[in-house]
Amino acid sequence: MANEFDLIVIGSGPGGYVAAIRAGQLGLATAVVEKDPYYGGTCLHRGCIPTKALLHTAAMLDEIRGSAKIGIAVAAPELDLAKTHAYKDGVVAKNAQGVASLLKKNGVTGLHGTGRLKGLHTVEVERDGETATYEAKHVLIATGSVPRDLPFAPADGRRILNSDHALGLERVPSSLTVLGAGAVGCELASIYASFGSRVTLVEMLPRLLPLEDEEVSAELARAFKKRGIKSLTATRVTAVAAGDSGVSLALEREGGERSELDTELLLVAIGRAPFTAGLGLEYLLARNWSAKIEYNYLDLGTDVLSFNPGPVLIDIDQHLHAVKFGVNYRFDWGGPVVARY
Ligand SMILES: Cc1cc2nc3c(=O)[nH]c(=O)nc-3n(C[C@H](O)[C@H](O)[C@H](O)COP(=O)(O)OP(=O)(O)OC[C@H]3O[C@@H](n4cnc5c(N)ncnc54)[C@H](O)[C@@H]3O)c2cc1C
Repeated sequence: MANEFDLIVIGSGPGGYVAAIRAGQLGLATAVVEKDPYYGGTCLHRGCIPTKALLHTAAMLDEIRGSAKIGIAVAAPELDLAKTHAYKDGVVAKNAQGVASLLKKNGVTGLHGTGRLKGLHTVEVERDGETATYEAKHVLIATGSVPRDLPFAPADGRRILNSDHALGLERVPSSLTVLGAGAVGCELASIYASFGSRVTLVEMLPRLLPLEDEEVSAELARAFKKRGIKSLTATRVTAVAAGDSGVSLALEREGGERSELDTELLLVAIGRAPFTAGLGLEYLLARNWSAKIEYNYLDLGTDVLSFNPGPVLIDIDQHLHAVKFGVNYRFDWGGPVVARY
């Protein structure tokens, strides 16, 4: 295999694989580096797709439960969680095959292993203790993100879960408290409520889905209430004690009112952290460019953005945007960046 490319993309989530495919279509010799066994990233393996498969099962369950109302008498449905996961995994596998064949069809070389920047044009790929070095005119970092932990109670996969754990639970918990009522928290709360858990949502801000329009939050709050999902908004978790039989939470409402809540499992869905650790981004800093790493995120200075002296290294999402403190840098200037749209 040739070790020289026009573009190496590190990370094969929707940001990375779309960019790699487009680069392939534009005739560039392109490679994509992926540390997971399959292409597709968070969205395909631990995000959008598996949640939608579980939501489908949950919606079917609810429809069947309500079918008598429209004149269809059936026995009470039973959830077979193992089969539900098999269905979900099948959907994911089919889509992963689709991504792999799109990459292949567009001439993109797959490099399996963990990518690390060894220079502005050099990427080292490590797999099972073996390393190989590749050269590229351009490097695009699309390494995505990982679930953010509560600083005082990191996820352990047993009592304190993150979304990765919640997508693969082997049994339905009797009670589940979901911390964080963003899209991920609300989707998983909805799924497990349909599956039979007693679900409580705890949100620090005054409403569910705080980033959406107020009307959407109000509608969701109504729908959740009707389904027995309890929402505690304007409420913070101040302490977490995980034991053998469950988790005890100390809560504090805005205004100072305190309470306690016991739950079998706690799901922490308070957002995601950019994943750039170990990538070798410090190389940029050594070049004295006005770039700095904060919270593991690469912050490019205006000189880099306007002068664009080489490959632009920046973490992107599936819309090819890099978001830092609310500022969107789009890849829409006329430099040598390949992932334009
Ligand atoms: C539960 C959940 C549900 C979601 N639902 C939706 C939804 O319905 N709709 C929606 O639009 N979005 C949804 N999202 C968000 C969506 O998953 C992300 O926005 C999207 O995956 C970001 O794409 P990305 O390419 O930037 O990163 P990712 O998808 O995270 O991909 C990054 C890839 O880089 C790889 N990688 C990282 N470091 C290295 C390295 N050094 N070397 C090699 N490979 C590396 C990782 O293994 C990963 O495969 C959801 C997220 C979650 C968690």
